[in-house]
Parts: sequence; C-alpha cells; structure tokens
Amino acid sequence: MASYTHVFADEETKNWFKAFIALQITKEGLTEFVDKETQKIHSIVGKGCGNCFIENLLKCPTRDICSNQHNCNFHNAPGKQNRTCPVNVCDQIRINIILQHRFSRPSWKNTDATKWNTHVWEIAKCFLHPDGYLQVTSVQNTDFNGMINIILNCIYFDTSFSFNISPKHPQLPCILTKARQIGRDVRHTADCKVTDVVLQDYFLTLTTLLTDSKCLSQHRSASQAVTKLLKLQTDRLAITQTELSILLHDAHQTLDQCKQVRIQAGMHICQELLKALDQMKSYTNESLITLDEHTQRILQRITDAETHAIKRIQQTGKQCMDDNYQYQEQEFLNHLVQHYKDNLSNIPLSHLVKGIDRDDFYVTPEIVVLYKEKDTRITTYEQLFYSEQGLNRKIFIQGEPGVGKSTLAINVVLDWVNQISVSPKNKKTTLEHEETLKHFDFIFFVSMCNSANERELVKMIK
Ligand SMILES: [Zn+2]
Ligand SMILES: [Zn+2]
Repeated sequence: MASYTHVFADEETKNWFKAFIALQITKEGLTEFVDKETQKIHSIVGKGCGNCFIENLLKCPTRDICSNQHNCNFHNAPGKQNRTCPVNVCDQIRINIILQHRFSRPSWKNTDATKWNTHVWEIAKCFLHPDGYLQVTSVQNTDFNGMINIILNCIYFDTSFSFNISPKHPQLPCILTKARQIGRDVRHTADCKVTDVVLQDYFLTLTTLLTDSKCLSQHRSASQAVTKLLKLQTDRLAITQTELSILLHDAHQTLDQCKQVRIQAGMHICQELLKALDQMKSYTNESLITLDEHTQRILQRITDAETHAIKRIQQTGKQCMDDNYQYQEQEFLNHLVQHYKDNLSNIPLSHLVKGIDRDDFYVTPEIVVLYKEKDTRITTYEQLFYSEQGLNRKIFIQGEPGVGKSTLAINVVLDWVNQISVSPKNKKTTLEHEETLKHFDFIFFVSMCNSANERELVKMIK
C-alpha cells in the first residue's frame, strides 16, 4: 500500500493543509452568525405563498436566465410561465430580494421559490454565485466562499461589521474580500503548498474577521473558532475523526461544485461554439456570394474590354485600309495626269519634228445637240454632260472624219487635267464653265483604234 506520510513531511504542504483546516474552522465560526442574520433577512423580504415557481415570477426573457422567448429553456412548461402570485406576495418578495442585492442581480437559478415560505436558505441562495449551489440547502453545507459572498452581496450586512464591507476604489478591499481571496487561493492551488509568511497572513486575516467588534466578537462559535485557529497555528490542535470526516466531506463537496461548474461551462462553451460555427457558415456564404458577384463583374469588364479592343482593332484596320486606298488612289491620279500631260498635250506632226502645243492653234468645233426640235449649240461643259434629267450616262459625238471629234475628246481630258492640277488655270478652255469637270474623279481617255479587239472597259483602260 502506498504511503503518503512523506506529503506531511514537507513543511509547505503541511502549511497548505493547515490553511485548508483554518478556512473550515473560520466557516464554522461564521455559521451561527450567518444563520441568525439570514433568518432576519427572511423576515424582511417576506415569506412566499409556497405555490409560485421562480419561473412564474420572472418575465421571459430575463437577463442571465433566458433570452429566447419563442423556445425558452427556462419557461419550459405550461405551469412555469410568467404570471402574478395568486395571493400577491411572491412578486413583492422578488422585488425585495432585488432591493437587498448589492448589484440588483440575484441568482434566480439557485433558488426554489416554492420554499420561500419555510426555507430561509432558499432566500440566502439568491445572494450566492449563480453556479454550483443548486443542491445546497443550508448554511452548514455551504462552503466558506459561499458564506462570504452572501455577506458581501447582501446590503443587510452593511451594518453588521465595524468596517465598510464595500469600499470604493481606490480604498483597499475589506477583510471579507481578503478572506474570500484566501478561500480561492487555497482551493485553486496548483501545488498544495503555502509558505510560512503567507500562512501567518492567512491566520491574521481570518482571526481579525472572527473577532470583529461589531457583531462577531459576541458570537460564541466565532470565539471558539479563534481559539481553534490559535491552536492550529501553534501546532496544538488535535483533529478528531469527526472533524476530519467533515473536512473530507467539505473537500468532496468542493470538488462536486467544481465539477458542476465545469459541466455548465462545457455546455456553455459548446453552445457558443455552435453559434460561432453558424455565424462562420453564414459569413462564409455571404463571402462566397460577394466573391461570385465580384468575379461576375470582373468577367463582364474583361468581356467589355475585349469587345472594345476588337472594335478598335477593326476600326484601326479599316482606317489603315482607307488611308492606303486613298494614298493609292492619289498615286494613280498623279500617274494618270502625268500620262495625259506627256501624251496628249502635244500634237505630233512627224517623227522628226517635236509636237506643238494644242492651245496654240486649237479652235473648238461647233457642237449641236441632235434630236431636238430646235438646234441647240453646246458652249459649256454643263450643257455637254448634263441634261434636265441630270448627268448623261452616255454621250455620242457624231461628225465627218477629220472634223475634230478625237481632238475635242483630248481637249476635254486636258481641260480636266488642268482643273484638278494645282498649276495656274489661265489657259483657254474648250468649253465654258470648265469647273464642271471637277465633278469627275477620273476621266479615262481610250482610243478605239488601240483597243479594236477589246470589249471590256477596264481592260481597255489598262
Ligand atoms: Zn424565459
Ligand atoms: Zn406566490
């Protein structure tokens, strides 16, 4: 069988055990006082009717209790809905408890309101911490920190001590708060060790509390506790089997409370995690939708840009083609004009003599319009090319050989060359209103004797 005697050989471990026993002794010393005072509180707040559940007395929702009105875990049965007390007492007790609570937030989860008429401790539990005290039914089975919390949270105790039990910052915490901290430190120790200096401070604090001049010093149980603390401090305290059993029971109860708190905390964490997961899911969905919208918008912009670019390329291509066409057209016109100047402006006389300028001796032949009732002479280009119906598509010039038909044609061409050229236009023209010739982009002079076997106009021009 394993031996644990070595545990008590360590001084600091022994100190921790002493601190634990000291807290139990102090709790016993406070019990009588707290028990009596809570009975007085009970008579102040009033006795319940015995038929009202705490659920009946609280509205739905109530802060710290329930929040979902439509699916409430607290108001979860037809008999446990909010209603007024049939004899009009419990609602006032509820208000009185709130008025007695220093922070106006009683722990309704702990209390059984149907026992408010007979069980003092069901009222006292409203001043405890909300978790871990559901099964606690008396001052005796309430732990040290629970008892201190009742005193600190209930304003009734404000006049029960020689000091201010709720000093405001920056004043130092009162002796009750210091004692509660000892309870926490001893219970939540990581190594079950307390140094000598700290232990002496514990004894001082707890003894000071139990000997408070206002009330506690007059309580027999408090005085007995002070004597016991002194014996414990000086190693003269003999712990009976019964006391040891109470200590172990207390330790067991503490562990139970811790377990209960842990389970509740676990459930709470699970609920919060589920909520967080739901939120994350909803955020993820929202983000996906937003992302999708962004993607669609970007895709649309890319498509628009693509369409625009294609249009620009097509426009630029067409522009290039147009420019090229215009350039080629101008080139062709220049060649044509030069060709006419070189080949038509002079009349060849013989192979040995250079030709002479047509202007020097040319006389326009008389041109008359046929098929009209009255002979009409043609003197202008307008008359030659246009009729009342507009531009003549075909014009035939008839005449005896040698009368000057070909020469007339050549002179028309030369007048056109003269009109579209940039050179000065002071030459004598074949017909008047020579500016009419500007209406024609091109004039092609085709000699039939050079194209005797050709029937297509384009080929003849070529
Ligand atoms: Zn509710
Ligand atoms: Zn009632």
